[in-house]
Amino acid sequence: MKYYLTTPIYYVNDKPHIGHAYCTIVSDILAQYHRLRGEDVFFLTGIDENSLKNIESAEKLGMGDRIQEYLDMQASIWQETWDSLGITNSDFIRTTESRHKKGVAKFWKRVEQQGDIYKGEYEGFYCIGCEEFIRPTDLVDGLCPIHKREPQKLLERNYFFSAQNYRERLLDHIEKNPDFIQPVSRRNEVINYIRDHFEDISISRQTMKWGIPVPDDPEQVIYVWFDALINYLTGIGYGWDDELFVRYWPADLHLVGKEIIKFHCALWPAMLMSAGIPLPARVFAHGFLTIDGQKMSKSLGNAIDPLEIAKVHGIDALRYFLLREVPFGGDGDFSNERFSQRYESDLSKGVGNFVSRVLAMAEKAESSLLKLDPGLRRDDKESGVQERVRETWQEYEEAFDRTRPDEALEAVWYLISFGDKYIEEKKPWAIHKEDKEEYTRIMDTLLELVRQVSILIYPFMPETALKIWRQLNIEDAQKGLYVAKLKEWRAVPIATIERGEALFPQSK
Ligand SMILES: [Zn+2]
Repeated sequence: MKYYLTTPIYYVNDKPHIGHAYCTIVSDILAQYHRLRGEDVFFLTGIDENSLKNIESAEKLGMGDRIQEYLDMQASIWQETWDSLGITNSDFIRTTESRHKKGVAKFWKRVEQQGDIYKGEYEGFYCIGCEEFIRPTDLVDGLCPIHKREPQKLLERNYFFSAQNYRERLLDHIEKNPDFIQPVSRRNEVINYIRDHFEDISISRQTMKWGIPVPDDPEQVIYVWFDALINYLTGIGYGWDDELFVRYWPADLHLVGKEIIKFHCALWPAMLMSAGIPLPARVFAHGFLTIDGQKMSKSLGNAIDPLEIAKVHGIDALRYFLLREVPFGGDGDFSNERFSQRYESDLSKGVGNFVSRVLAMAEKAESSLLKLDPGLRRDDKESGVQERVRETWQEYEEAFDRTRPDEALEAVWYLISFGDKYIEEKKPWAIHKEDKEEYTRIMDTLLELVRQVSILIYPFMPETALKIWRQLNIEDAQKGLYVAKLKEWRAVPIATIERGEALFPQSK
């Protein structure tokens, strides 16, 4: 089983903010989950370097004559940010790389051979912010409604892609594959767009000085979206490594922001149909993050650096917050205050306290007793703990199948509070002296519950999971095992424990 997932390739006219980090972190969580299942995962992210926005930024810095140098500088910033956040991407694609350019040229030629590229004249309003032509009726007081800037009026002789040829096939595909566009709320939006507005599209620019040249016509460069979307192919070998490409394509998931859904669910599949390449299985659009209730924007200067946030409570806490606080597919808000609240209540007093409490009590059981006679383990079933764990795994895996990692995480926290209740019910501290056997039995169940929780949180909080495995001395024993085995009750015996520092220390 392989699993290929992608983030959008980001514009590099600025450094990554929390919105970019959100999309990349969710992708990382999905990648980690599929690795835990033992799948052959390829997780691609990268940057779009051929956008006009980048060129404008280079010019602002006085680097207009050294654009590639500017892009290299920005590329390092992006790569270093993901490294510092512990992102486990398999590769990082840059659209100025020769492997990408080769693949784009190959793709163009296939579409051309298919008869879907023709030359035509185009006059329209182009917004650099959107990297898209805007219909005159969508302008507000002559400005792009999103970027509040005046679009360029262009009259050019360009190459066009016969997107209209694929309108019916696209609508048919969307109808027959209800999972193709998610969440469902986005589906109708895309269907309406394809039905009412999906027209042939200009895919080259005459006046642009930066970009990938049109094959056999170097006077023109390829339209940035037509070029950028192909990264999903070139990142896994299209045009330069056929074996790699065959191994991973079609993509299992393109994770995108909702503002670019129509490029991914209309233009992109039409391009693939034309080139005779199978479509991705699923496109999932996540929502926007606001900051303290306000839209993040350059002009407001309220963009948040994810590295600064990770410094406060750690990477795992940031990952947890974004998944727990934002319903995946909907919009969410980030605020430092809320972040600290979640840290205290869900991490310090939640999982952190649960684990340290169990381990502290387990230490009181004589170590020999931890190797309990299996016949004495009847308590598991009576208490319903084993049953609850089984149900949690079921909810968790179903949530991941639906690309709802946020719901999977919620199920884990429900299990943790179940564990807390179990402790309150059993009151092991009250019988510690009188009934050592019963005490050990309870601790034995609780330790296994901690192990189960640690596996469940692994995709979300890998560092924390690792810390727990070390405290339970099961790191080596679990190596090379995948979910199917790890989720079995007592799949890995816990013989000794070594308490470490608090997982999420209380803030001072
Ligand atoms: Zn715009």
